[in-house]
Amino acid sequence: MFEALSSKLNGVFDRLRRRGALNETDVAEALREVRVALLEADVALPVVKELTNKVRDRAIGQEVIRSVSPAQQVIKIVNDALVEALGGGEGDTGQRGLDLNAPSPVPILMVGLQGSGKTTTSGKIALRLRARDRKKVLLASLDVHRPAAQLQLEQLAGRAEVTSLPIIAGQSPLEIAARAMDVARRELYDVVILDTAGRLAIDEALMAEVAAVKAATKPHETLLVVDAMTGQDAVNTARAFQDKVGVTGIVMTRVDGDARGGAALSMRAVTGAPIKLLGAGEKLDALEDFHPDRIASRILG
Ligand code: GDP
Repeated sequence: MFEALSSKLNGVFDRLRRRGALNETDVAEALREVRVALLEADVALPVVKELTNKVRDRAIGQEVIRSVSPAQQVIKIVNDALVEALGGGEGDTGQRGLDLNAPSPVPILMVGLQGSGKTTTSGKIALRLRARDRKKVLLASLDVHRPAAQLQLEQLAGRAEVTSLPIIAGQSPLEIAARAMDVARRELYDVVILDTAGRLAIDEALMAEVAAVKAATKPHETLLVVDAMTGQDAVNTARAFQDKVGVTGIVMTRVDGDARGGAALSMRAVTGAPIKLLGAGEKLDALEDFHPDRIASRILG
């Protein structure tokens, strides 16, 4: 992810560095190129505007032009603006990583479109919580529309070496969720991961089903899984889920691919929800915490 954006921004900054002394036109020209690079990376327009305005105001305010290393100063200002867009600014309370600070069993609800990587991510989180955090994890699939999805989660649970709720045909999502919480309470599980059904596109029935499950289970975390490769669509999906269901965090998958990265940079501003985790591969251990400062450094290479 971010390869094209990164190489374009580096090109802009290399040219700026070679100039040595800068005048206001040089900075304005560089900013114009930054703007184009962000737009080409699929960053949402309001986010691009806010970011470039911020950089321009700060570059002027800090008298960058008269400083000893003006190019370096501009890069630092762009870096800080990227960190802020990614949700890592000072005073940004967006919680990073999973929040399990609640009485056991802690319910985590996984939501998202079909194919976004929801079930794989459920398995990844389960593995991490078991192996790294020593939690007792129960996985349950609420996808009654696709029996294959329930089997897939069962297999993933096996690979992650955690328990999956036995499948009982004919139960509704709400019944499965209630049974999962019941088993978890009785058998002293720490965390219950509820993998809801996805659809190929947002529809009312999906939203109503997910909202009903959420109301019944009162999850401590409602994690929306989105595919970074889908760019602006991922942001639109996130906005819809945020409006209709309410999410506490976003997991962005397929960041190991050549996604342009605009979705990652737009998510915070458009949805208000923090990106908490990144999926970086098909393997169950390919799960990363989201660090805005590290991502910004990766972009600026
Ligand atoms: P769901 O329909 O949302 O539950 O999606 P799945 O979990 O079944 O994932 C769909 C496909 O995407 C599977 O082939 C996964 O192996 C793959 N996948 C999931 N997460 C990632 C990721 O982070 N990177 C890559 N490259 N593939 C992923």
